[in-house]
Amino acid sequence: MLDLVVVGLALAALYLASVAIWPYAKCGRCSGRGKFTSPTGKAWRSCGRCGGAGKTERLARRLFR
Ligand SMILES: [Zn+2]
Repeated sequence: MLDLVVVGLALAALYLASVAIWPYAKCGRCSGRGKFTSPTGKAWRSCGRCGGAGKTERLARRLFR
């Protein structure tokens, strides 16, 4: 049982370390493109969720701010 706790803590530490190194993830709504292209491909609008940046902050980063 104690082994499971240690493994869980190790995984949590790895996750937090990865968030520290790579704090951003692709925006889920626009798949990281930051915009929605019209069917013609000539016009687009910015993604409302990420503001056109195409990225979101990962969950742990939001928790620690
Ligand atoms: Zn977006």
